Amino acid sequence: MSEPTYCSNPDHARPTPAIVHLSWPDGWFKPTTACVSDMQWQVRDSLGEGHPVILQPVTPSPYDRKGGTYLVWSNESAAWWGPNGSGYTADVWSAGRYDEANAIKACGMRTWSQGAQPPEVMVLAPEDGRAAFTVDDIRAVPDLMRQRIREATRQAIARRKAAASVPA
Ligand SMILES: [Zn+2]
Repeated sequence: MSEPTYCSNPDHARPTPAIVHLSWPDGWFKPTTACVSDMQWQVRDSLGEGHPVILQPVTPSPYDRKGGTYLVWSNESAAWWGPNGSGYTADVWSAGRYDEANAIKACGMRTWSQGAQPPEVMVLAPEDGRAAFTVDDIRAVPDLMRQRIREATRQAIARRKAAASVPA
């Protein structure tokens, strides 16, 4: 494996893997690299100031895993799980990234009461399988993720019904 690309924010105590290369077609800022949390404010600032920004995932992604990169949504808390199961966040870019096995494990941890929504569902991360993000793509992420949550919740309920209808 080659050396990972690191976030260019000098404030990190330890080298932090970068997930994107950021560049500004209008020359607003020098091209740079960012970790998940730095990407989020860089993109917000750029959009807020009206400067288009191009995001190109670092390849291979430091979070590249067989079977995809997942986020875990808590229907109970109406928020994403943080990194490594620590707390919750409303922000998709600050949410933890999980491989398939760990996302499945996370979704099986809590008791799912009859008639309730599944406590947790796993959904593909917005950056999974993307070559780049445009500004419009970034703006579409909240809708995309709401759609993935609805779909994952619907599928979990359907799987549970199917399992319940099989005689033990
Ligand atoms: Zn960073």
